Amino acid sequence: METGTQDRLCPHFGVCGGCSSQDRPYPDQLAAKENLVRETVAPFSPREFRPIRPSPDVFYYRNKMDFAFAGSPDGLGLREKNKFNRVVNLQECFLMSPETPAILEAVRRWIHDEKLSPYHLTRHTGLLRYLVLREGKNTGERMAHLVTSNGEVPRESFLRALDSAARVDTVAWSVNAGVSDVARGESTVLLRGSGTITETLGERQRASGPISVPGALRLGTPFRISPTAFFQTNTRGAEVLYREVSDFLGSSAETLMDFYCGSGTIGLFCASKAKRIIGVEVHPPAVEDARKNAEIQGVPNAEFHAMDAAQFAKNDGFLRAWRAPGTVAVMDPPRPGLGPQVRRLLLEHPVEKWVYVSCNPRALAMDLPLLVDAYRVEIVQPVDLFPHTPHVETALLLYKK
Ligand code: SAH
Repeated sequence: METGTQDRLCPHFGVCGGCSSQDRPYPDQLAAKENLVRETVAPFSPREFRPIRPSPDVFYYRNKMDFAFAGSPDGLGLREKNKFNRVVNLQECFLMSPETPAILEAVRRWIHDEKLSPYHLTRHTGLLRYLVLREGKNTGERMAHLVTSNGEVPRESFLRALDSAARVDTVAWSVNAGVSDVARGESTVLLRGSGTITETLGERQRASGPISVPGALRLGTPFRISPTAFFQTNTRGAEVLYREVSDFLGSSAETLMDFYCGSGTIGLFCASKAKRIIGVEVHPPAVEDARKNAEIQGVPNAEFHAMDAAQFAKNDGFLRAWRAPGTVAVMDPPRPGLGPQVRRLLLEHPVEKWVYVSCNPRALAMDLPLLVDAYRVEIVQPVDLFPHTPHVETALLLYKK
């Protein structure tokens, strides 16, 4: 594990909104996050609070970044700290990979040569909105996803620009004609490749045992990732987190309910722990990825439903599976935390055991008081997936009282 940080202080530190604590030694960052989680869960008297697990990589850990076009004529980078409409024209960045700045520079030259304009967030003028890059950390596969407002982009020169900087396996272009500031669009055109990349998680087990070839790409369970599907942005950190979740679940459940399942990562990672996996996720492309992933991995006992978790919680068929003996659950909600219907489901029909994967201690602090009548907090495990930022993940094992 890398622990030194000062040796790598980014020239944009202090202005760029991407990192807020890169100037603090990594062990200090970890201690601050651990304390935050400890204080958040203290009122619920967990039986065991485990020390925070560090991110395996402290730099170049992200597999996805959304870069915004804005500000100066050829501006491309991350938003300035506390300034939503200003962009730091990044010449350096230690979050994704050493190739990233060169890709950004090539795209800037393309903007300049083709005389294209960045989209303006308040005037709603201009073309270029986001450049989303994804990189499989274990596979080396790379995706570029360009998001623009309505209009045409010079496609061939865009591909040439990318090629001048790095290998980019697949390229997609989406149009977001609306005013909402999101890095996805209503329609997507494929400019190159399959439109997905593959990332792997964990070591693949073969009949002959785990395979590990020094110096070669790591083998593992393959996951397909589409341009807009959620996938944990820190691959190696996610492996740590998912292993904790898997250990919490133990073995031999009848059914594992994977709520807010994204591309099915947690359910599939834990597929051997239950006879049946049921995933629910509101974003259809992620559900499509989840189904494909089950197929690629040869997991026949996993099913995924494109549905709001609130709807799912009211559906009679799923409710029967939820209430059947031997059902366990994983809840990995977005930043606002569990919705009221999901909380009600947990309270009105308590499961013996479930795991809350929280990416936001504030949401946790609001959800836990509403659940403690039915559950006790057994183990709390913070995991750092976001070095140099204030964010922290926490896995909690809860038992029915
Ligand atoms: N468990 C996954 C994804 C977690 S991120 C993983 O580890 O990769 C949270 C996911 O919840 C996102 O994929 C998001 O699209 C989904 N989501 C957000 N609101 C939802 C809702 N109301 N119902 C179901 N899924 C929801």
